[in-house]
Order: sequence, then C-alpha cells, then structure tokens
Amino acid sequence: MKKWRRYNPLGNEEKDAVNRVLDSGCLSKFIGAWSEDFFGGEEVQAFEKEICQFFNSPHAVVFNSLTSGLVAAVGALGIKPGDEVIVSPWTMCATATAIVIWGGIPVFVDIEKNNFGINPKLLEAKISEKTRGIIVPNIFGHAAMLEEICAIAKRHELFVVEDNAQSPGIKNKGRYLGTWGHIGGFSLNYHKHIHTGEGGFCLCKDEELALKMRLIRNHAEAAVLESPIDSLHNMVGFNFRMGEIEAAIGRAQLKKLPKLLERNQDKAKIILKELSSEPWLGSTDAIEEHAYYVLPFKIIDHRITNKELVRRCKDNGVPGLLDGYVNVHLLPMYQQKIAFDQYPWSISEKTYEYHKGICPVAEELHDSQFFGLLISMYELDESDCIWIANTIKESARAILCER
Ligand SMILES: *Cc1c(COP(=O)(O)O)cnc(C)c1O
Repeated sequence: MKKWRRYNPLGNEEKDAVNRVLDSGCLSKFIGAWSEDFFGGEEVQAFEKEICQFFNSPHAVVFNSLTSGLVAAVGALGIKPGDEVIVSPWTMCATATAIVIWGGIPVFVDIEKNNFGINPKLLEAKISEKTRGIIVPNIFGHAAMLEEICAIAKRHELFVVEDNAQSPGIKNKGRYLGTWGHIGGFSLNYHKHIHTGEGGFCLCKDEELALKMRLIRNHAEAAVLESPIDSLHNMVGFNFRMGEIEAAIGRAQLKKLPKLLERNQDKAKIILKELSSEPWLGSTDAIEEHAYYVLPFKIIDHRITNKELVRRCKDNGVPGLLDGYVNVHLLPMYQQKIAFDQYPWSISEKTYEYHKGICPVAEELHDSQFFGLLISMYELDESDCIWIANTIKESARAILCER
C-alpha cells in the first residue's frame, strides 16, 4: 500500500512570524475596556488590514475560529429569538448553529446538484414573514449561485452571510467569494487552505456591522456604553479574540494563498482529465473556478453507490476520500428539536419540519451519489494524481463487472 505524506504549508515565513511575536513579549494585547487595545494587538490589527487589502474589502474582523465569526455575524445582524434564517443542509454544522445560539430558527433549503450550494429556485417558497436572512455556504471551493440568491435576498430585504470557509481567494463573475453578502466568513482551521491552528475572519462592507462584530468578539457588554453603538440588542459578551501568534502566522499564510490555490488546481486538473470520459460520472461545477477544498464527484450510474466505491478505493490505497457529506437537518439537534431544552423551537407557534425528505437532493447525494477527494491534504505529484484517477476508474469498473 502507498504511504501518503501530509502536506505542510508552513515554512520559514511562519517561523519568523512566531519568533517576531515571541521576541515582542506580547502574545495578546486585547482588553475588554473601550480603548485602543479593545481592537487587539499589533499583529491582529495588521492582519485585518492585510485581509482588507487582499480581498478589497472595507472591513475585516479576525476571530479565534470561523464558528465564533459566524456567531458574531448573526448576532451583529440582529437576529432575535423566533426569527427564521434560511440555510443549506450541505455544510458544516456551525453554519446553522450560529443561528440557534441567538434563538433563531434554521430553515433548510435544498441544494443545487451541480454546485452543491443553496438552490435559488427553491428559495422563495421558504421565505416567510419571519425570515430575516440567508446563510449561503460556498461549499468545497466553488461559488453557490450568489447572483440569483443575492437578488432574491434584496427583493425580500434579507441579509446574506456567505460561509466561505472552503473557498478563499476564489472569484465569481470577477468578485471575490465572501464579498457578495453583507458578511463573508473564512476559516483558518488546520484543515483549510491557509491556517493558523485555530482562527477565522469575517469580511463586511458596513462599518456598524463590523463594529458590532468587534463588540461581540470582545465582551460587548463591558464596552457597549462607551462605543458608538446605542442599542444593547445582542450585545452579550464572548471572548472570540485571536492571539498575536495566530495573527502573525495568518499574515504569512495569506501571502501564500494564491500559490496554495494553484497547487490544488493543478492537481485537480490532472485527476479530472483522467476521469473525463467515465460514463458513470456525472458533471459537477468542479471544472469552473474552484479552490478544491474537496474535489467533488457525482455518480450517475445506479449500479455504483458512493459508499461501495469509496470503500474499494480506500482498500486500494486512495487517500483523502469522502463517501458523503453532512446533511445538517438530519443531525440529532434538529431531529429532536432540542438545543436549549426545546428553545428556540418552543417559542414559535409554527411547527418546523426537519425529517428526511425535506432536502431530497442533498440526501440522495449523501446516501448514494456524491464522493469527494481532499486533494490539498497530501503531497501528491503528477504521477500520484494519475494513479489516484486510475484507481478510482478501476474500482468503479470492478463494481460494474460484478453487476
Ligand atoms: C471549517 C468550516 C467551518 C468552521 O470553521 P472553524 O474555523 O473550524 O470554526 C464552518 N463552515 C464550513 C463550511 C467549514 O468548512
């Protein structure tokens, strides 16, 4: 069996950054009192400036994770108990938990089968008088149908948050993902394109929204009376602050993002080319501008299921395989509607449906059709990529021969 080596994107640039912080003697400069240091230390503030420059965004707010960033984003947007927020079922659970934390109720809209993002055609039917916003994940490295989704949101005066954890540095129609919505969130977790260990950041255009996120990041209630924010609404305190070491590493990592994306794209191109004429594989939008956090595939031959194919490929030594993806609506929290006891569902007269069947496309993709490759995780050269594609091909053909 082939041995695969985990790719390490950290080098001398990150070592120098860490040493710079250690030499300064200051590992975090945040304080909760309203002052210059309310906004973080030198590295944190420099990192935020460099993120703004990279993405051409007026504001950037760094956090100790994107989970924290999403919580701050939904809080800053003013979600109240009982408000509905539309979200995709095909994402990491934190995308939806960020709503529940504020007493908001997630309403799941099924995904589009080629780009794995919220299907705009299904959106309007789910908008009610209680709907306040939409959280759109750009999943696997590719844009959801942002133009259509943002147009619908605008018509109904809803906010849009992009969960862009998996697609940093990718553009759609000339515009960076994460800058389409009112707020766009990025993760800096170990598994993502660029990382700081734990970390994340949010981009936004509106100054007041950015300030509210900064308040929620740093014990809001301790400083809100001195800040320009008048309302106490959602100004409850968290500590979502990023340390100086993480920020310094992030600054070095951000410079590497274009190269890291190119690396993924080169590998994906080879694998996609090798698999381009397989009749059992359907098309996805993976051939378009893509960050390839996951290289996604869709099986269209009913004789092959994702679970069986992935088991065989794994047995043959293919690394980084996914044989499905989360269907958030099917997680126990939604099945049993228990978060804080029965809150937030208990305060609504409406009954919310999360049973299997409400998102048939996401469910079928997970159950039988979708598989993916985490190509950025390993050291793979051209011949490795060709070997992986051929092994997938042979594994599928072996299944078909037995049918
Ligand atoms: C990784 C990820 C998150 C969470 O990011 P953390 O920084 O680990 O909190 C949220 N949403 C999506 C889609 C992710 O992939």
